[in-house]
Amino acid sequence: MQQIEELKPKLEQSKKIAIVPHRRPDADALGSCLAMLGYLKQYSHDVKVISPDEYPDFLKWMHGNEEVVIHEYEQKKKAELFIAEADLIFCLDFSSLDRTESLEKHVRNAKATKVLIDHHPGKEDFADYELYEPKASATAELIFDFLNKMQDVDKLTIPMAECIYAGIMTDTGSFKYSSTSSKVHRIIADLIDIGVKPEKIHRLIYDTNTENRIKLLGFALDQRLTVLKEFNTAYMAISMSDLKKFQSKNGDTEGLVNYALSIEGIRLAALFIDRGDSISMSFRSVGDFSVSEFANTHFNGGGHKNASGGKMTEPLEKVVDFFVSLLPFYKEKLCDT
Ligand code: 5GP
Ligand code: MN
Repeated sequence: MQQIEELKPKLEQSKKIAIVPHRRPDADALGSCLAMLGYLKQYSHDVKVISPDEYPDFLKWMHGNEEVVIHEYEQKKKAELFIAEADLIFCLDFSSLDRTESLEKHVRNAKATKVLIDHHPGKEDFADYELYEPKASATAELIFDFLNKMQDVDKLTIPMAECIYAGIMTDTGSFKYSSTSSKVHRIIADLIDIGVKPEKIHRLIYDTNTENRIKLLGFALDQRLTVLKEFNTAYMAISMSDLKKFQSKNGDTEGLVNYALSIEGIRLAALFIDRGDSISMSFRSVGDFSVSEFANTHFNGGGHKNASGGKMTEPLEKVVDFFVSLLPFYKEKLCDT
């Protein structure tokens, strides 16, 4: 492992560089990648963001979005060739290569020097350089640190700063999670000084809902929410036909799980979504209950202590039944005062 500061001389010569987020990139993953794209372009590198798959429309305002290569679709070959030929690969917002799903084997086999910048627990040792801090609020926070370490904060443009702001804003739940340190607020203050307008970013991310998305939210809360008071647990299960009924698009269910968690007394919230080929899951907790361990032990997943996800290929009802059957084993942890 080499010190991340030692990357600087490498960045001063023109290189082919791939920047890769985790599958189903969120605002932190995509924002980090696009801020990094904006930075590396200033050194005239041949640089591309290569995403394993699509991301929600409400992220598409980010500067550089139109250049992102999506591996899942028609750009498969182009993405694979670029990764195979790259000199450097930046791996952003994931701590193990399996989170890149369809890109995993290509990144793993690539001859490139790999740089990991991330804040997820459970790091795999695959990178040559790391800026890894599980206590960081967001990978975007670490992108800001990275620019500092490269002594290049002056290269932070407003569009890059907006991407970083969006990543930190969303990963901290709009600056309310316990990861919101004084350092986070200092970085945000710097971003505002550069020219970011918080109200603009907030609107772009949170206030651009379609009518269908809001109706899906209402339907899910009314028809698909189950509260199990004896386990301080609440969950929602959304079927494929529910998604179809509201013409649901990528990202429409993001944040839904937080409504279950917002119920008084609830310590564990889960969201199950039938995506056709698999059931995707989101888990959230308050306090000491580790949903990262929970997802890792039972649902092929992981994440952070209070926010995690997983995936299973059994039918929706089976996955939900399995989840409910696990709760008695965690009753003590979920119900201690
Ligand atoms: P979300 O519920 O928003 O999709 O994910 C919550 C958190 O869990 C995010 O930090 C995300 O990166 C992580 N996460 C989601 N799905 C998985 C998974 O399948 N494996 C791992 N290791 N982490 C996941
Ligand atoms: Mn993140």
